[in-house]
Amino acid sequence: MSRKDKIIDGKKIASEIQELYSEIQVLKTVIPKKPGLAVILVGNRKDSQAYVRMKKKMARRLEIVDFEKNLPENVSQEELLQVVKDYNNNPDVNGILVQLPLPKHIDEETILNAISPEKDVDGFSPINMGNLCMKGREPLFVPCTPKGCIELLKRSGVNISGKKAVIVGRSNIVGLPISFLLLHENATITICHSRTKDIAKEVKDADIVIAALGAPEFVKGDWIKKGAVIIDVGINAVPDKTKKRGYRLVGDVDFDGCLKNASKITPVPGGVGPQTIIQLMKSTVEGFKRQNGIKKLL
Ligand code: NAP
Repeated sequence: MSRKDKIIDGKKIASEIQELYSEIQVLKTVIPKKPGLAVILVGNRKDSQAYVRMKKKMARRLEIVDFEKNLPENVSQEELLQVVKDYNNNPDVNGILVQLPLPKHIDEETILNAISPEKDVDGFSPINMGNLCMKGREPLFVPCTPKGCIELLKRSGVNISGKKAVIVGRSNIVGLPISFLLLHENATITICHSRTKDIAKEVKDADIVIAALGAPEFVKGDWIKKGAVIIDVGINAVPDKTKKRGYRLVGDVDFDGCLKNASKITPVPGGVGPQTIIQLMKSTVEGFKRQNGIKKLL
């Protein structure tokens, strides 16, 4: 198989964008409103600002109304809570996203708990997370990056059922939810983390590898079983003097090393990242339909 055939190109989402755009156009004929997404950004982190810019750009492209609130780094928790409450009560806002991480003086859990589960497009509220983890329950929203990983696997023709999936990372926003999504797709899952004794040994058995730990090029080529599928969630900036900006972005997987044995692999950048954004837009439209009592379009 050629290098090109192995790469799962996350940027090839034109068809998904078109499908969603068409759905929004049809929705407009049913209800004279547009879906609305509120993004709350606290502080001046360059990476968070870049993510918010990308989300806004995609929202505008899809004619989703974007409500944006930029708050200073020293904003009080009460002020931030008030912003969340105002968006909870605003009927034009169908989805609320608080860009993480938040400054240290703000309790992330308190803020995420304050988002109405009906508008929790990131799926991080305890009720949505709890329902995601339980068999037979339907969360209102599923976290966007994990949802995007499943979409990439399915759109690449990967059959998940019965496969052994090894997830490296157990964070609430990526590792944990993706593990449950894979379990619900009938994979057998192994979750690795910083206390796992021999991660290489676990990965060597995997049909599907999900790398989500935030360590540059951590997963090595000789860990990969022949034919395994690799989804690299990591985004790490490593110094690179040959680049104008002085760094380059790499994933949690040694891409060139792993390409040899992998049957499919996502690149960084251009793999999971673009999928995360389109899933956020899809979730906003799902929220819009649910909040306006639209179950089916036609
Ligand atoms: P996180 O909250 O820091 O969690 C990292 C997880 O990896 C933890 O469970 C930690 O284990 C584990 N871990 C860290 N170092 C390890 C090591 N050396 N060996 C084994 N396990 C290790 O990170 P995150 O928010 O999940 O993000 C993970 C990566 O995904 C980051 O690079 C982030 O930038 C990227 N990301 C990308 C997107 C996207 O859209 N593409 C979205 C979100 C995140 P413990 O639990 O034991 O501490």
